[in-house]
Amino acid sequence: MSDCIFCRIVAGSLPSKKLYEDDGVIAFHDIRPIAPVHFLVVPKTHIASLSDCSTDHEALLGRMLTLGARLAREQGLHAGFRTMINTGKGGGQEVFHLHIHIFGGGTTLPKV
Ligand code: 5GP
Ligand code: ZN
Repeated sequence: MSDCIFCRIVAGSLPSKKLYEDDGVIAFHDIRPIAPVHFLVVPKTHIASLSDCSTDHEALLGRMLTLGARLAREQGLHAGFRTMINTGKGGGQEVFHLHIHIFGGGTTLPKV
């Protein structure tokens, strides 16, 4: 079995609060939310980080972003939301399987 947490969620061997799934992408709520709504958009294939993406991944990355925006609307984030990709240890990445954080709701997020 894979020792990658998100590969295990994709395979269904680790439970998650799933929002969406298709052939290539899965989305589920973050286990440690930092906002009232906080979910992750994750490719089913194992890609360690954004730094490991090439032009071959452009369609997948675009799909992940448009899907994230659609799910944010469906989750009621009509006032807006934040989109974040942590990349590498220097970027604060903890799970080395590419994912986009989408979060918002409640108070206005601090300016970055
Ligand atoms: P990173 O810091 O790598 O960008 O974000 C990893 C995120 O994955 C964190 O926000 C963390 O809370 C979340 N996470 C870690 N393990 C699990 C898990 O087993 N299930 C879910 N749903 N989220 C997880
Ligand atoms: Zn993985």
